[in-house]
Amino acid sequence: MPLLTIGSAAYDTLETPFGFRERSLGGSGVYASFAASFFTESRLIGVVGGDWKPEYSGLLRSRGVDLEGLETRENEKTTYWSGRYFDDMNQRETLLFEGNVMSETYIPIVPDSYKNTPYVFLGNGSPVTDVALLDSIAKPKLVVADTMDFYINGMKKELLDLLTKIDGLIVNDGEATLLTGERNFLFAAKKILELGPKFVVIKRGEYGASYISENEIYLVPAYPTMNVVDPTGAGDAFAGAFMGSLAESGDLSAESVKTALLYATVVASLNVEGFSLERFQFVTRAEIDKRAAEFRKILV
Ligand code: AMP
Repeated sequence: MPLLTIGSAAYDTLETPFGFRERSLGGSGVYASFAASFFTESRLIGVVGGDWKPEYSGLLRSRGVDLEGLETRENEKTTYWSGRYFDDMNQRETLLFEGNVMSETYIPIVPDSYKNTPYVFLGNGSPVTDVALLDSIAKPKLVVADTMDFYINGMKKELLDLLTKIDGLIVNDGEATLLTGERNFLFAAKKILELGPKFVVIKRGEYGASYISENEIYLVPAYPTMNVVDPTGAGDAFAGAFMGSLAESGDLSAESVKTALLYATVVASLNVEGFSLERFQFVTRAEIDKRAAEFRKILV
């Protein structure tokens, strides 16, 4: 079943212990919609400026990502983010974020062909934008959102409103703590469930990820790769693959959720093996399935 993703399409300047890239392809919507495209029909809503490189759209289209919802505003500038990773690549600092064309009050234009999409993923972006999107489409079968410190700190009220309108939330452990004040991820998850979502997925870096609902908890460890080059977009790729796999299964059974967690972990591990989408763009579903099968074998 088709999946609609909304999120940033951005230029990223990246510095990791393995190198440097200037104005490379990035953005939460880009990583997530690309990751989802391995599993299901993937549609992207976002906005870019007149400086957007057409070859970046070409790269997304080459995997079949539907870009009818990617608006170009010729007289504005594309969203820009720059970040630096420390020797411990679990740690990074944002050097600069310029929303530019994707302001905190950006209202998306939704093509008619997207309005009945059954699965919706709200990638990192303003909660005001997310609510506007939900208000302009038919009620989806499943709506899941991601968020980050920028919006938890800056738009808490709007974010709390969004949480009452979604089925699931995907965050990392730091974001879960920031949102709830709880350090223990189980306590944090419990508090998030009280804010509206029926389930929460907490990503815990090298410790893996957990899916928690009122009556379920599933845990998956991180895939052990020795080739981490650039962690940017790992969270977005995880979320996109998780949603894409759920959309492919078409239900929220225990089996489907576990499969989605496994695929999300594997896809995130492939994404971090190159800067930007340099490696990710050449990944195939066969490669994902091969790594997923190897991963299943080593799980206890
Ligand atoms: P991740 O590494 O999964 O946290 O995602 C990093 C991606 O999110 C980068 O490609 C950035 O362009 C994008 N990003 C960074 N800050 C923001 C923000 N405030 N809103 C939307 N996207 C962002």
